[in-house]
Amino acid sequence: MEEDCLFCKIVNGEISSDFLYENDTLVVFRDINPKAPVHLLIVPKKHIRSINDLTKDDEKIVSEIIMVAKDMAKKESVSESGYKLFFNVERGGGQIIFHLHLHLMGGWHQA
Ligand code: AMP
Ligand code: ZN
Repeated sequence: MEEDCLFCKIVNGEISSDFLYENDTLVVFRDINPKAPVHLLIVPKKHIRSINDLTKDDEKIVSEIIMVAKDMAKKESVSESGYKLFFNVERGGGQIIFHLHLHLMGGWHQA
């Protein structure tokens, strides 16, 4: 838990949010300002600033994030039509919330 981190507050329930999925490692919720018909954020519970800060100990977290993204794409019915997964890394990479999160975007096209 990092003070003044919005996503830590969401993860800890200090700021309420509707989780589409939650397990011991991560939560999934909809982006508040969606840039695609389906726009989810997959967010680890552990505060990690960005991809740059990952350590060997975080390998399981990263693989879980990707596996859950795949499952969420299916649940949101964008698996077949296709989707984008991406991490923005630091300011120059478009990151504005400095708590690691994977964007899942899709739903523009029918399969
Ligand atoms: P990034 O630019 O990768 O740091 O993305 C941060 C994302 O978090 C943006 O797409 C925002 O729209 C989204 N966001 C900011 N505040 C909230 C919130 N309270 N709930 C859900 N998504 C949020
Ligand atoms: Zn945080």
